[in-house]
Amino acid sequence: MLQSKVSISTDSHRLFSHAIVIGGGIAGLLSAQILTKYFDKVTIVERDILVSEPYHRRGVPQSHHVHVLLKRGQQILEQVFPGIEADLLKANVPVIDWTADVQWLGTGGCAPQFTSGLTTLACSRNLLELIIRRRLAANDSIVFMPSASVVGLLMDVNKTNVDGVRVQLHNKSQISLHSDFIVDASGRNSSAPKWLAEFGYPVPQETIVDSFSGYASRWYERPDSLSSEWKCLYVDAKSPSTRSAVIYPAENDRWIVTLAGAGRDYPPTEESEFLSFARGLHSSVLSKAIKEAKPVSSICAYRGMANRLRHYEKCSRFPGHFVIVGDAVCSFNPVYGQGMTVAASAALILDYCLKHRSSKQHNQILAGLSQDFQKKLSREISKSWYMTTGEDFRWPETKGKTPTLATQFTQLYMERVLSLSVESEYAHQCFLEVMHRVKPFSTLFHPRISTQVLKQTITQQKKK
Ligand SMILES: Cc1cc2nc3c(=O)[nH]c(=O)nc-3n(C[C@H](O)[C@H](O)[C@H](O)COP(=O)(O)OP(=O)(O)OC[C@H]3O[C@@H](n4cnc5c(N)ncnc54)[C@H](O)[C@@H]3O)c2cc1C
Repeated sequence: MLQSKVSISTDSHRLFSHAIVIGGGIAGLLSAQILTKYFDKVTIVERDILVSEPYHRRGVPQSHHVHVLLKRGQQILEQVFPGIEADLLKANVPVIDWTADVQWLGTGGCAPQFTSGLTTLACSRNLLELIIRRRLAANDSIVFMPSASVVGLLMDVNKTNVDGVRVQLHNKSQISLHSDFIVDASGRNSSAPKWLAEFGYPVPQETIVDSFSGYASRWYERPDSLSSEWKCLYVDAKSPSTRSAVIYPAENDRWIVTLAGAGRDYPPTEESEFLSFARGLHSSVLSKAIKEAKPVSSICAYRGMANRLRHYEKCSRFPGHFVIVGDAVCSFNPVYGQGMTVAASAALILDYCLKHRSSKQHNQILAGLSQDFQKKLSREISKSWYMTTGEDFRWPETKGKTPTLATQFTQLYMERVLSLSVESEYAHQCFLEVMHRVKPFSTLFHPRISTQVLKQTITQQKKK
């Protein structure tokens, strides 16, 4: 068990004494580390028991499935916890070069494989979380409060600032925990709208784009007989089928195999149906590979993968001393692997907001920070939102606000870039760099790509 530890710095140069983070997932852990720069003590209140093994937790059901940490997410992780990449390597985590080691089987064929240096570390969600938690456990300012659920907020007398949380303990008793600042990182089922409404604050508008996608995943031992052509395999959906899949490597020579379907074509969890779904992909490479591999887990399913954005940045009133991060603000269809990286970006935005206000008079530092933070976070989210929802609108069953012209254009353009990726190393690398958030979306409009896209479009129009 990770023991809670109370150690408050006495001769602190920090600005405030106590912050609370609700939820010990990726968003909560990164935010907590940032807060220790400004607060003497940071308490992470987590509903689950926390153990010192890479262990599946009830509060993170998604950890049964592939969890790709994008390059940008990994860069932020290293920035927040210097040396953490080395910790991951010590834990037997494979390095993948996204152009050399990933076989990308697109609808038009296989993308070229070449070395680009776009490398990341591939591991399970459970190991990643454990390694981050170990770093926090070594930070004297962090207190873990496991097996404790936040059930509501506490407000100051004027109801203008949040000044604590109500916590239900393991034995069902409730306590009040006070602090100067509170971060809600409780994930996609966050109760923040309800908690805010209890004090008369408006409920945020929500935008939902649902492609009715689902996953089924199983862990395998990587077979020794594997060819060296790839370490990771992506099979894209070939329209009209919505089925896609990935074999993603992880620590200790394991593979996580995740099958995905959209438009309610949910992949099954019964073994023979799982294998038959895999055989139904447009390429047989994946089903042949898993035939050689030994399964080491049961098959787990996940549904409810809609993109959901809560517009806290648009709320006419929002309390002070309180911010909301991670999936609690925006959860994406995980097929595009954006969630952990956007959650990590939120920690950097929090750092920026606190740092840039720290020269103000003490009682002014937190004033107005909450709304400023939510606006900045919303701009960051939008970078991934248009790409993921645009892609989801490929499927006719997708429900959601009618896509804007910009979204429709993004989706069509991306389709063309993906088909160009099969013949152009340059286009393939640019697409991956944009997906990994190390380059802006505008990279895909470089003349070397846009002229090819235009030529392709004209050729197809002539054929019609
Ligand atoms: C199937 C699936 C696959 C995914 N694959 C990827 C991927 O490949 N790449 C990627 O980047 N992202 C992926 N994601 C998204 C990713 O899991 C999240 O975006 C990321 O973990 C950030 O989430 P979070 O920390 O905000 O919430 P979570 O990770 O969900 O953590 C929330 C935490 O809060 C705790 N909690 C909840 N309520 C309370 C409460 N009231 N009191 C105390 N504690 C509470 C929970 O127990 C949990 O520990 C995937 C998501 C799903 C569903």
